[in-house]
Amino acid sequence: MADLAITRLNSQDADFDARFAQLVTWDAGDMAQIEKTVADIIADVRAHGDAAVADYTQRFDKIDVHALGLEFTEADIDAAIAEVPPAELEALKEAAERIRAYHQWQLPQLGNHEFRDAAGAMLGQRVAPLQRAGLYVPGGRASYPSSVLMNAIPAKVAGVEELIMAVPTPNGEVNPLILAAARIAGVDRAFRMGGAQAVAAMAYGTQSVPGVDKIVGPGNIYVAMAKRQVFGQVGIDMIAGPSEILVVADNQNDPRWIAADLLSQAEHDPDAQSILITDDADFADRVEAAIEAHLLSLSRTEICLQSLNERGGVIIVPDLEEGARIASRVAPEHLELAVADPRALLPLIRNAGAIFLGRYTPEAVGDYVAGPNHVLPTNGTARFSNPLGVHDFITRTSLIDCSPEALRCIGPGASVLAASEGLTAHQLSVDLRLREAD
Ligand code: NAD
Repeated sequence: MADLAITRLNSQDADFDARFAQLVTWDAGDMAQIEKTVADIIADVRAHGDAAVADYTQRFDKIDVHALGLEFTEADIDAAIAEVPPAELEALKEAAERIRAYHQWQLPQLGNHEFRDAAGAMLGQRVAPLQRAGLYVPGGRASYPSSVLMNAIPAKVAGVEELIMAVPTPNGEVNPLILAAARIAGVDRAFRMGGAQAVAAMAYGTQSVPGVDKIVGPGNIYVAMAKRQVFGQVGIDMIAGPSEILVVADNQNDPRWIAADLLSQAEHDPDAQSILITDDADFADRVEAAIEAHLLSLSRTEICLQSLNERGGVIIVPDLEEGARIASRVAPEHLELAVADPRALLPLIRNAGAIFLGRYTPEAVGDYVAGPNHVLPTNGTARFSNPLGVHDFITRTSLIDCSPEALRCIGPGASVLAASEGLTAHQLSVDLRLREAD
């Protein structure tokens, strides 16, 4: 096992800003080749539909969907569910209930609204669920049943009429918990396909796969690039980067708890980022010692070490308020405030995907059972984007309803502005009605 060597910064050092920028910058690398590969796959699927999807599935996942069928049957799903140990099935159902309840709470806040303004015009918005959404579920070791719940449940709560799922089955293998989670979450149809070909099939439709309005869900670099390339044809949720956790902790914490929290994101990916911000350098030493101790018994030691040594960080601050301000600059996906009074720090934080308050709220509860979505903005994008939610599966339509009186009141302004833009047909369409109303 390599030695643990986490970068340590002090916010009072003269070179802090430069070193901080270096710590939090993540570069996905040169994408030119992947961009081209993915563009070719998408073009092929658009031209040849199912046949192209089947060819790529044979090439990348080593299965013959001509023989097996591209779509999972109800019997396939029943058989998978029968393999799932009852305790795991029960835990999935409990998690689903809590996730459903939280997203049902979100729903009314997005509802239909109308009001009459001072000019007498009725204005408002109407919301409607997407007709069809597509959920990408990564294959192989990276497949998480919890992600199926988190992506599918908000869609169904929003009222999406048909939710389809794509999951690659390398060498024919699929985690039965994925299919169980799909059934519990209300996925309507599921297909054995992955990568750019699956994204293209859902975006453009094939003979077997219906085209959707929006594609959500994580995946590897081919999936992420394909989502970028089909955006415009369909909506997408986001382009997720590696996972991140930032913990602001005082020295009253058990260092073993904080160490485990930092490791819980490091174990995802060598590119994942775990940062501790504390006002006590001795406490940081104790956390690092606890990380080393935990690593002796954890399962993904190499991934954790690589992540912590290459992207991890400890930042020493003079006080916790300064820590909170630095945390907000990072805009982390997950932010833990493991301090005596977390709500006192809350106003100092503008940007974070999800905030976990207090010593008894480890980030991992949010991954599974708390209820709010675990699909969160990464890589600083919490500055302008949001956790996945019911709103991702809803469209809003503006409503404008003028009586003759209301048009008489607001129409002249439209007429003047239309004329000033040289758009005489716009002007005419208003003026004709104003003349009639006179
Ligand atoms: P995947 O389903 O994302 O990708 C598998 C597919 O990639 C294959 O079916 C194939 O079509 C395509 N592919 C592989 N090599 C290719 C090549 N050379 N050319 C063209 N296409 C190719 O599964 P995975 O590869 O196991 O990756 C899972 C990813 O999902 C990881 O990057 C992981 O970090 C990510 N993930 C993220 C989250 C999250 O919440 N952010 C959750 C789970 C997984």
